[in-house]
Amino acid sequence: MAKETREFQAETRELLDLMINSIYTNKEIFLRELLSNASDAMDKLHFAALTNRDILGGDDNYEIFLVPDKENHTLTIADNGIGMNRDEVIENIGTIAKSGTKAFLDQLKQAKEENADLSDKDLIGQFGVGFYSAFMVAEKVAIVTKKAGESQAWRWESTGDGSYSIEEWDRDRRGTSIIITLKKEFYGDEAESDFTANYQLQNLVKKYSDYVRYPIKMDFEIEETPKDSEGKPIEGAEKIKRHEIRTLNSMQPLWTKNKADIKEEEYHEFLKNQFHEWENPMEIFHTKAEGNVEYTALLYIPAKAPFNLYHTDFEPGVQLYSRHVFIMDKCKDLLPDYLRFIKGLVDSPDLSLNISRELLQQSQELKDIGRALEKNILKSLERKLKNKREDYEKFWNEYGKSIKIGVYNSMYSGRDTIDKLKNLLLFMTSKEGKLASLKEYVERMPESQKKIYYATAKDKGTIERLPQMELLKEKGIEVLYLLDPVDEFAIETLHDYEGKEFHSISRGDLGLDDAESQETKKETEDIAKKNDDLMKDIKSVLGDKVSDVKISTRLKSGAVCLVADEHGPSLSMEQTFAEMNNPMFKAQRILEINPRHELFTRLQSLHAANKEGQDFKDYCDLLYAQALIIEGILPENPVDFAAKVAQLMAK
Ligand code: ADP
Repeated sequence: MAKETREFQAETRELLDLMINSIYTNKEIFLRELLSNASDAMDKLHFAALTNRDILGGDDNYEIFLVPDKENHTLTIADNGIGMNRDEVIENIGTIAKSGTKAFLDQLKQAKEENADLSDKDLIGQFGVGFYSAFMVAEKVAIVTKKAGESQAWRWESTGDGSYSIEEWDRDRRGTSIIITLKKEFYGDEAESDFTANYQLQNLVKKYSDYVRYPIKMDFEIEETPKDSEGKPIEGAEKIKRHEIRTLNSMQPLWTKNKADIKEEEYHEFLKNQFHEWENPMEIFHTKAEGNVEYTALLYIPAKAPFNLYHTDFEPGVQLYSRHVFIMDKCKDLLPDYLRFIKGLVDSPDLSLNISRELLQQSQELKDIGRALEKNILKSLERKLKNKREDYEKFWNEYGKSIKIGVYNSMYSGRDTIDKLKNLLLFMTSKEGKLASLKEYVERMPESQKKIYYATAKDKGTIERLPQMELLKEKGIEVLYLLDPVDEFAIETLHDYEGKEFHSISRGDLGLDDAESQETKKETEDIAKKNDDLMKDIKSVLGDKVSDVKISTRLKSGAVCLVADEHGPSLSMEQTFAEMNNPMFKAQRILEINPRHELFTRLQSLHAANKEGQDFKDYCDLLYAQALIIEGILPENPVDFAAKVAQLMAK
């Protein structure tokens, strides 16, 4: 096949531009990224070889070579991992297939505009664009790669200017070489960072990639005085040069060391190296267990949730090792889904090396280890909530959604999940606008209050302005603010906390028990009786749009509000379903009218004058439209609504 020149996908080009124009100050990390790709390629091969040894072609010596070339100003990173065929090169290198690239670019641009210190932001790692970091130091990057088990090799090359070339090439060994032609700031004795200097490369490997579990090798030229037969240097003899291949990384698995001997930074570097993380973690769990099952686990809660944590393309899971030998990446079956943000690994002699994924999933050992680790993690989170509130809130802001989804999913995973998670939940509340746990809420509930009240909206301000809030505020009743669509689903699944039922302020009877509320209730019942016809006629004007029209007990100064029936989806759930293309889930809408509002008197008189008249009908429509708007829902016919308002104003 002849050499072919192809264009990068638009997003890739944009990303390359940003890389080349140095968005990231710490340029040396490109080496870590490429070494970690090489190590991944080796893992992939190793995994494929478990079921198909032929793929190795007799070469089971996994290694990475660093080859600096001072003369040609190049640095080559060569691995004998899985390699890529032509389609894979185009797919993996020429395009960014991942969703969220756009989000990444936007964040990057914004950070650039704000001149933010990008070393503080896990942008590149978070979005997995490691390979492109080579362009921070490269004038040109070439890839020569041959897929394990295939015969044709390929060469890809680009200067990062919008296009790349791809052609057939010769290469003996399987695997990939990344050949970087360095920009002039990055080679030579004068350069601040000389990526062709052995000692600099050696330091970088030590600093960033010491735990890569495959040897990273480099050729060293050594000058020595020749020795005599007894091994003593011969004085005056001319020095001789010889070559020695050295392994630069220690490869000792960090987790096998004693906790007391591990420095904090070592844990951090390990995370960054092995798991494509950029920032220091929020929490580290390093546990060894002996007994029923034996294992060592090194788990992390990363500082930032990945952008795609809740997308279907996110692959949760930790790495599995058996006696320090890598078995599997991203094992989903170890920890429950609500801990999907945990990164790290588990090493256990009780896990068998050569069993298939399917069998491993069912293994009792895996289940036991998972259960023990889950317990540890949840306990530590509970401790954090109790003793380090600020840290816990940070955790909550990043990962709270996972926990809430976990509560919701207890419908499938079982009620015991609820008992595990309910005390970890935090919600913003009307009290000082702070996060509160359910326990805190219940503890400060006045005795007369029987239920836990909540309100839903997209933001705090909207909830605070809801007409339904006014009365509760006046009575000093604390309300939970459910601001994320998943919140209400979680709360409804919970049903109650310590016997106290949850109740939406926009649903059914609020069940307020104080004397004043009882009084209002009685009064309202009287008014309702007297106005039964009026309510019925409003309902018949509005038809199917509402399931009922009622006199309200929950309104103070507002004229109307929409509430949902005691059962079935609420209005905000209905909106969430609609956004997910599930428009069949409709809330039973009940229009409530405030009998103490002047508008009510006006309605009464219009009704009395002519209940068939257009004026009465228009008023009903307008009332309903207002109630919708308050809920953040657009009236079905905004033009008609506006026209009716205009007419009224002109009167
Ligand atoms: P990530 O590693 O986060 O997926 P990269 O941009 O670093 O993103 O790499 C893109 C893809 O290119 C990788 O997922 C992998 O499929 C492929 N790739 C990169 N380097 C190598 C390599 N040394 N050997 C084989 N495949 C590689």
